[in-house]
Amino acid sequence: MKTKAERVFLLTLGWEYLPKAWSVHGWDPTEFLTEPVPAVVVETDEGYVLLDTGFNPALIHDKALYDRFHGRVNGVRAVLPPGDEDPLLVALEAINVSLKDIKAVAVSHLHNDHAGGLRHFIQDVPIFVQQRELDFGLFDFPKAEENGVFRVDFDDPRLRFHTLQGHLNDQPEEILPGVEALPTFGHTPGHQSFIVNFRDGTGMVLAFDAADLMENFEKELPIGGVVDVEPATTTVHIKRLKSLALERGYLLVPGHDPHVWPKLTQLVQENGYHVPKHLTTEVLFSS
Ligand SMILES: [Zn+2]
Repeated sequence: MKTKAERVFLLTLGWEYLPKAWSVHGWDPTEFLTEPVPAVVVETDEGYVLLDTGFNPALIHDKALYDRFHGRVNGVRAVLPPGDEDPLLVALEAINVSLKDIKAVAVSHLHNDHAGGLRHFIQDVPIFVQQRELDFGLFDFPKAEENGVFRVDFDDPRLRFHTLQGHLNDQPEEILPGVEALPTFGHTPGHQSFIVNFRDGTGMVLAFDAADLMENFEKELPIGGVVDVEPATTTVHIKRLKSLALERGYLLVPGHDPHVWPKLTQLVQENGYHVPKHLTTEVLFSS
C-alpha cells in the first residue's frame, strides 16, 4: 500500500429500535435493542473519506413517508438525534469537516441507515459501492424496498458511482488511501466491509452489517438480517473478518453494537482521533 490513513472520526447519526433477531439469527423475536447508526470519517493524504452516511431524515420527519418506508415492520423505529438539522451535517460540523472537504464516499451497502446521506454528494465526489449492491438497489423492485433499500436515497443521476466488481473470497482491495474494501455479501447482495490502515501501524476492521454486535464475533453467531442467503452462511464472513484483524493486529469493530460503538468513539476521541495503541479487541469487548 502506498498511502495510509492518518486519523479517524466515528460518528453516530441516529439509532434504530429493532429486534435483536435481526442482528443475531434465531434470537428471541420479542427482545429489542436500540442500535446506533454508524458512519466513519477517515483523514487521508488525499482528503477526508466518508464511510456510510446514515438516514435520510426527510423520510423520518414526514409522517406519510415514514409510514411507507419505515413503518412496514411492527415495533421497529428509526430515531434521529434531537433537533431538526441534518444529522450528517451536524456530525461533520462537530469535527470541523465540511461537505466540500469530503473527497470520496464509500458505502458498505445501500440500506436506508447507511445510504440516506448520499444525496449530499451530488457534485464531483466518487461514491464507491459494489456493482451488485447498486444493481439490487436500482433494479430489484419492489424487493429492494421491502428489504430496507430505498431507491430514492441513491437513484439521483448526478451521483457519481464508482462500482467495484468484487467477488466472494477476494483479497481486500484498496479503494482509497489506507482504505480497503472486502466483499461480505449476504446481509444485502453486495454488502462490503472496510479495513482502515493507519500510518502509526494501527488499524480497524470495520465489519458494518456483516456483524452488528460483539456477540456475532465472540460466539461466531450468524446475523439475522439477510437477503437471498441462509443466515448460517454469514459466519464465513465473521470468521474471515476476525482472522484479518488477528493477522494485522487491528481492532475488530462490529457495525451496530450499542456498547462497543459509543465506547470506541470515546476512546478514539480521547486519543486525538487515533486508535489507542494499547487497545485490543478483547479489551473493547470486555469493557
Ligand atoms: Zn444493513
